[in-house]
Amino acid sequence: MRPLSYARATDVDGAIAAVARRDDGAFLAGGTTEVDLVRQNVLRPGLLVDINDLPLNRVEDLPGGGLRIGALARMSDVARVPGVVARFPMISQALLLGASAQLRNMASMGGNLCQRVRCSYFRDAASPCNKRDPGSGCAALGGFNRGHAILGTSDKCIATHPSDVAVALVALDAVVHTRGPGGEMAIGIDDFFLLPGDTPEREHPLEHAELITAIEVPGAPVARRSVYLKFRDRESYEFALVSVAAAVRIQDGTVAEVRLALGGVATKPWRARRAETALLGRPASATSFALAARQELAAAMPRPMNAFKVELTQRAMVRALSTLTDGEA
Ligand SMILES: Cc1cc2nc3c(=O)[nH]c(=O)nc-3n(C[C@H](O)[C@H](O)[C@H](O)COP(=O)(O)OP(=O)(O)OC[C@H]3O[C@@H](n4cnc5c(N)ncnc54)[C@H](O)[C@@H]3O)c2cc1C
Ligand code: SF4
Repeated sequence: MRPLSYARATDVDGAIAAVARRDDGAFLAGGTTEVDLVRQNVLRPGLLVDINDLPLNRVEDLPGGGLRIGALARMSDVARVPGVVARFPMISQALLLGASAQLRNMASMGGNLCQRVRCSYFRDAASPCNKRDPGSGCAALGGFNRGHAILGTSDKCIATHPSDVAVALVALDAVVHTRGPGGEMAIGIDDFFLLPGDTPEREHPLEHAELITAIEVPGAPVARRSVYLKFRDRESYEFALVSVAAAVRIQDGTVAEVRLALGGVATKPWRARRAETALLGRPASATSFALAARQELAAAMPRPMNAFKVELTQRAMVRALSTLTDGEA
């Protein structure tokens, strides 16, 4: 049996200091990821610092129509905030399509961004996994990889990033605010998620004891007309095979502004920049949408078991854009 200590922090600096004091210290928010992984022997913290009493659970409007979401705001609470529903429907929808009602009531926004991959080999402490045990190999490369990534992969890791809401936040150019032993940082969300490359064990640029304090979403009028579509093996309580966050503004029948990001298909929440560029100034038609989707997926590296995701992703992108532009072209 391994000893595991528990402490409850009452202020932000105290939480950071408590984790910083020990190499094996970690933050505990809702516990919906952390506790599972400790039980499965995948993570082995010696100290869990409970951060649930920290004053980081508010969702505030920012000047210019943006939002500041506290890291401890719960998924279910954020999904219901009127300003989120009205100004950023893709955030609300992505949250409500994630996990289950009970989990969403516990799960925090900061914890959601830091959740670990759902690759079954990562969670099986007996399998080789470069992410869990660097240099041990990747069992998924030659294993059961139907749900794995086709974009952003490396020969070291092909696990998909599991978060739904992160996909919407990437489409919206959110900024992750942190505080740690080295001070405060603001990290663009696209830089917050790292590609696996040769170091799949490093998933984000946070240093030890660096705490996410808030996520800021800049005002984006285009997001008022936005959608999050999620395709999965069953209708609830399941991670995405493919998901799409989309927002679009049409002017005179052509695409004047567009945001697109993909989930379930890449090693990080994937901003579909090639498709965005291909769409700008093009007619808002199914033909343009399909062409742009094909351009985005040209870089895909599928494997026999997950090759179906290439076609599914393209169709999902067309569906999302068509849903938003129905009757406008
Ligand atoms: C059965 C199941 C189904 C799920 N389905 C989905 C789904 O469909 N879509 C989806 O998006 N998610 C899904 N999830 C994941 C769920 O959303 C995450 O587990 C949850 O958001 C994590 O938040 P938490 O507060 O519980 O984090 P915790 O479990 O407490 O922590 C997770 C990690 O984040 C770190 N951490 C927590 N807060 C901070 C912070 N403020 N700063 C720095 N580090 C921090 C912890 O140290 C830990 O490493 C599912 C989970 C389960 C168990
Ligand atoms: S895909 Fe990544 S997480 Fe899964 S076994 Fe390979 S290295 Fe580990």
